[in-house]
Amino acid sequence: MNIILLGPPGAGKGTQAQRLVEKFGMRQLSTGDMLRAAVKAGTPVGLQAKAVMERGELVSDEIVSALIGEELDAMGPDTGAIFDGYPRTAAQVESLDKLLADRGRTLDHVIELEVDEDALVERICGRFTCANCGKGYHDKFEQPKQPGVCDKCGSTEFKRRPDDNEETVRTRMAEYRAKTAPILPIYDARGIVTRVNGMADIDHVTAAIERTMAG
Ligand code: AMP
Repeated sequence: MNIILLGPPGAGKGTQAQRLVEKFGMRQLSTGDMLRAAVKAGTPVGLQAKAVMERGELVSDEIVSALIGEELDAMGPDTGAIFDGYPRTAAQVESLDKLLADRGRTLDHVIELEVDEDALVERICGRFTCANCGKGYHDKFEQPKQPGVCDKCGSTEFKRRPDDNEETVRTRMAEYRAKTAPILPIYDARGIVTRVNGMADIDHVTAAIERTMAG
């Protein structure tokens, strides 16, 4: 099964993708994570992407589609893909169609996480992750059970994304409205979009996604 999680920054795409990975052994393909890894490693792609990401703008379609192609090639043919943060433009929709068709894959569902934009800035600006295992936390909504220690792996190192500040979040949302929201009608026309209330609690959102996948 191949699915897209769609929604503005902070909608919970990454959180839900991680759960599907754990439960169904699917693979999360997050272009944001791939780009952050490239920035950290100082690769040519990373050097090109760094400033764009810090501004909250979109990296070029060619770069992200190439990253997705590489990840798909590294996966077993029977492993399902969860696209998280990709596609984000109409050009990326076209690229993804081709990448999937070339590999004999089909797109089963596009799940749109619907959220109240006013809540997103608070959600995003308080979030942090375990530097070791990537588990997500939030200053206000989900602190580690033992302060300063990751619930999942016991690490005491945490990190925050440099683009999770209010100014950049506003740009990221504007990019979403201008370039990403317009791709929904393309998938609507194919009859594969399900809308899920992304403001519900995390377990409810997961359950709604699982119901969609179960058909
Ligand atoms: P994310 O982790 O999905 O919020 O992405 C973080 C940043 O990476 C975005 O603000 C963009 O600068 C860049 N990025 C991630 N995915 C894409 C994409 N599909 N197309 C263009 N830029 C992207």
